[in-house]
Amino acid sequence: MTGAVLKIENSLLAAVPRKAYRSLLAGLEPVTLTFGEVLYEPGETIRHVYFPGASLVSLLTLADGHLALEVGLIGREGMVGIPLVLGHSASSVRALVQGSGTALRMASARFRDEFRSCLPLQRELYRYVHALMAQISQTAACNRFHVVETRLARWLLMTHDRVKSDEFRMTQEFLGHMLGVRRVGVTRAAQALQKRKLIRYSRGDITVLDRTGLEAAACECSGAIQAQEARLLN
Ligand SMILES: [Zn+2]
Repeated sequence: MTGAVLKIENSLLAAVPRKAYRSLLAGLEPVTLTFGEVLYEPGETIRHVYFPGASLVSLLTLADGHLALEVGLIGREGMVGIPLVLGHSASSVRALVQGSGTALRMASARFRDEFRSCLPLQRELYRYVHALMAQISQTAACNRFHVVETRLARWLLMTHDRVKSDEFRMTQEFLGHMLGVRRVGVTRAAQALQKRKLIRYSRGDITVLDRTGLEAAACECSGAIQAQEARLLN
């Protein structure tokens, strides 16, 4: 675990002073999250909280029992398991891994104790909860007012910021959930961005070719979310 002390992938944990972090470390277990893995279902008791490193977790709200829509995206800047911070033991949303990669997890009981006793962790988590609420609110407005192509561009930028890699995997089915549209809508939007040489999209592999162009193609929500995060988390 010495390596984990030296290089902390999760920026929320990295913001906790080293002395406090070292005491948290004993309760943190490195795990690899796999694309498609469900961490929480709505109403289920939360067993672990997760601090993503290279992994990416999507929060989905369900409607009519089968429709899923992404309302939040959590990567290295945050933690999955916010209900525990707010005194609840169950999730209200589905938490789905949409980017495979590393994370540190902690059992819920242990997390409750650490959260109560570690003031720097509390402070970072409250800041993060506020940032996540801002992101969820902006996403709600975005889903209502903006067209699929600009939303897809926004989503790609948010993912790009978190995974810190130009290449990531995303199936059309997943993208449909992220954007709340049918597959054909996803295909059309992805083709449009590809035609403008902003991305390459092939069999679920996405490559960001032109970050600046993608920023220009995205709706204003992308910049708004980025600015909010910079203000609230830095
Ligand atoms: Zn938007």
